[in-house]
Amino acid sequence: MRQHARAAAAREALQTERGAADASHARMLPARVQRCKFRECYDDAMNYRHAFHAGNFADVFKHAILVGLIDTLKAKSTPFCYIDTHAGAGRYDLRDEEARKTGEFVDGVQRLLAAPHLPDSLRPYFDLLRTANAADADGHLNVYPGSPLIASLMLRENDRLALCEVQQAETNSLKKLFADDRRVGVHQRDGYVALPGLVPPKERRGLVLIDPPFEAQDAEFRTIESALASAYARWPTGIYAIWYPIKLPRQILPFHRWFAAHGIKKTLAADLMIDADDSPLRLNGCGMVIVNAPWQFDRWLAQLLPDLMRLLARNPRAEQRVSWLTRE
Ligand code: SAH
Repeated sequence: MRQHARAAAAREALQTERGAADASHARMLPARVQRCKFRECYDDAMNYRHAFHAGNFADVFKHAILVGLIDTLKAKSTPFCYIDTHAGAGRYDLRDEEARKTGEFVDGVQRLLAAPHLPDSLRPYFDLLRTANAADADGHLNVYPGSPLIASLMLRENDRLALCEVQQAETNSLKKLFADDRRVGVHQRDGYVALPGLVPPKERRGLVLIDPPFEAQDAEFRTIESALASAYARWPTGIYAIWYPIKLPRQILPFHRWFAAHGIKKTLAADLMIDADDSPLRLNGCGMVIVNAPWQFDRWLAQLLPDLMRLLARNPRAEQRVSWLTRE
């Protein structure tokens, strides 16, 4: 009972803090700059297109962690399911106009290619990049694999992928990419709405990646929390990985505190700042929260994050941090 009251008090404090954070955030940030500073990154209908950002530092961070998570699931031979609530197009050609316009991959994946020595922690991710480019004989990195393609290259014959995407063009691209792959289900649906119905998967093992474009800015966190709360209630043993952009680290604190206030266990946070945290108008870093983090995943992240920081930092004041938000 007392514990109940404490959790309720924590939730209430969080809500008050939230109100203040939302108000200051709304004042500080012009609309639609959470992840992207170019008007061109949206199509005529103002839809977010990931092609402009493919292979940027945030993708490298997110996908290197994704590879680590899928590897831990493969340690057991029983099948599992990978669910991507915001799948994107699945595969991006870095020679296309969108990627060239922003050139974001230059300070992302291209830095890895240029590194004189690639750290062991990044080797599995790097090998996947090579596999995704195997068909191109010129030795360049032309194709950047999105999360669905990375997962499909790693999953085994009896594992399964469920991909949700709202945009028509991206859905078409996913359907084309996976036309011959019977493990993959493509759903043109709102991933937040679809998620509770997709869990628990029949395999009872697996990973959900939640990777929204954050067009709703801070309000996106509320949407994530509500989808996560219903999914977690139905499937408390699933692994959930949630990516988020960081401008100022303190803006993320209410989201981090939400997990303890809602009794969600074994939650890790990995945060990487590649720039100084002195501008609320710039994407200075990004992070990933992992619910039901696999055994010793904190140790693996503690190797990966410093390596990523060394390779991707744009400023000597870059920082990284791995922390437990909740335990067992
Ligand atoms: N996870 C991908 C990148 C996704 S970019 C990767 O790592 O490669 C985010 C995508 O979410 C965009 O393609 C956008 O169209 C899509 N999207 C936006 N809102 C959505 C929603 N509510 N449900 C599903 N997809 C959504």
